[in-house]
Amino acid sequence: MSRIQFSSVLSAKVFPYLKVCTLMLFLLIHLPVNGQILKKPIPDKTVVLTFDDGVASHYSNVAPLLKERGFGATFFVCEFPPNFSDSTKYMNWRQMQQLDRMGFEVANHTHNHAAVGKLSEEEVIKEINYIEAKCDSLGIKRMISFAYPGYSMSEIVLEALDKKDYLLARAGGKRTYKPLEDHPYLIPSWATDSKNEAETMEALAQAKDGQIVVLTIHGVPDLEHPWVNTPPEMFLRYLDFLSKNEYQVLSFEQLAEYIDFRKARKLLKVNFDKPLRN
Ligand SMILES: [Zn+2]
Repeated sequence: MSRIQFSSVLSAKVFPYLKVCTLMLFLLIHLPVNGQILKKPIPDKTVVLTFDDGVASHYSNVAPLLKERGFGATFFVCEFPPNFSDSTKYMNWRQMQQLDRMGFEVANHTHNHAAVGKLSEEEVIKEINYIEAKCDSLGIKRMISFAYPGYSMSEIVLEALDKKDYLLARAGGKRTYKPLEDHPYLIPSWATDSKNEAETMEALAQAKDGQIVVLTIHGVPDLEHPWVNTPPEMFLRYLDFLSKNEYQVLSFEQLAEYIDFRKARKLLKVNFDKPLRN
């Protein structure tokens, strides 16, 4: 047998073993984290819809359209200053309670839409507690999800969320949520507005291979804040696309069926260097 023949026979015999060894090493490194963070695999086409600021149109337009299609969603509520008491602009607390009764998740966006990144821990907790107390008095489920108003965040806010035992917090960043990489207190999202329909559609196409697409939506329409307006006809196009293509549309609370957020919090590092704002 020539030297060349011998070495090719050897590599034919050794190579499969090397492959198996590499695979085992890969599994050893990755499986413990995967196995602990994921309760079950994330299906392709999984999307989380979130609606911010307690805008009146969430109750009048959005909730019935979602309900019709059997879609879940998280509503991040607050008492948006200065016009919260104007019910033509914002939901009142009875309407927020109704969203909870309809099966949607009502979640914490602070009392006053506070720039929490600039506050002390005590002040952050006060902002969080106000919404919790309000919800408690109305029989709304205990809150597990938080969204940073204006994407304002700091380590202090994350510590406050940890003390309050929130499971997750939504940020921005225009990228997919990778549950095995992104810390659950820095969940990325895309925000919709009247000009970024193409970008939003491209985002939805990325919900695959274990990656989840989270959308941050304001009013539908949003008359008070036109720069984050989502026109109702555009919103309907999104819903029709999601229905026709058989997407799974969830609230964060429903996503907890797939992800053990407490374990993810322990196992994953906080990384403020990734894009976190929209
Ligand atoms: Zn907001």
